[in-house]
Amino acid sequence: MEDRCVPLRNLDEKTVEWYTKVILLTKGILVNSKGKAGSFQRFLFADKKKTVMQAVIYTKDLNFLEQKLQLYETYYIGNAFITKIEDPKYQYGSVPFQMTLTRKSFLEKVERTKSYHLDECLPITPFWEIDVDPDKENENLSVKLGTFHGTCVGAQNNTKIIFDPPIPETNSLKTWIVENKDYAENVIKEKLYEKQKQEVRVPKEKHIRQINQVLNIQHTVKNCWVKATATIKDNQRLYTAICPNCDNPSGAPMGIISTCNYCGTSGKAPKPGLKFVINLADITGTLQAVIQNEYAEKLLRYSADEVYHNHLAVSTNI
Ligand SMILES: [Zn+2]
Repeated sequence: MEDRCVPLRNLDEKTVEWYTKVILLTKGILVNSKGKAGSFQRFLFADKKKTVMQAVIYTKDLNFLEQKLQLYETYYIGNAFITKIEDPKYQYGSVPFQMTLTRKSFLEKVERTKSYHLDECLPITPFWEIDVDPDKENENLSVKLGTFHGTCVGAQNNTKIIFDPPIPETNSLKTWIVENKDYAENVIKEKLYEKQKQEVRVPKEKHIRQINQVLNIQHTVKNCWVKATATIKDNQRLYTAICPNCDNPSGAPMGIISTCNYCGTSGKAPKPGLKFVINLADITGTLQAVIQNEYAEKLLRYSADEVYHNHLAVSTNI
């Protein structure tokens, strides 16, 4: 039986005499449809190749079939109608086909020793690999990607949310929360999540990215660590004119009194602020970055005033 199961990705409307082995990922709510087929409930199944296919059951068959279907249980399914999903808006799985299950379908629970574990079938995209055009809906992820505070994901019409699924990742997160309860409470109480309260620490080696990987990020904004040799690009001025009150760039040349366009401070000439371009290089590539203010001062080991008065050209390594 097992070796005759057809993977979900091989099923289409032309497939005949097939059956498949799948785990039930989600059960939808009853959708009231005005179409002639009537109301239906939507289910999502996944197989061991991590393909997800949606199935629908119409009201007339629902009472009979719905009670047979339990979340995260494994089933053999066959003799269901396969149809193509014409509008991607209604595609909830990873393939553009859906099954319609009826009383005539073959639906058999797989015995415990042969059933799948959810984590074998659940397609999880690591956050780092989410790298698609945020302006387009991503059919495989069924989420809307944005760039608010870096990469963010939002729900869209066909987003599915599986709450607390029984997989190792959720179990380890729960254990972590229990073991670090005091820390987690302190983060909330002291608002340690606010940017100014965060300390920059040397990241773990596994969190460091190679420069060519960073350069290959297409559209989304990501915060990442690199470990690189920094050199200051030649022939740059190293400082810019900034407002002495708010540190924003001042349009005025050094020594000329003006009014700040950001904070409205008037009657003052700008002060120098360090700002320059550095090259970051590792064995995989080179990246340019802008460094300014206290970070620039630390790297250069000169203050903005010293640089301004001496017009130094410096090259350094960190
Ligand atoms: Zn200002």
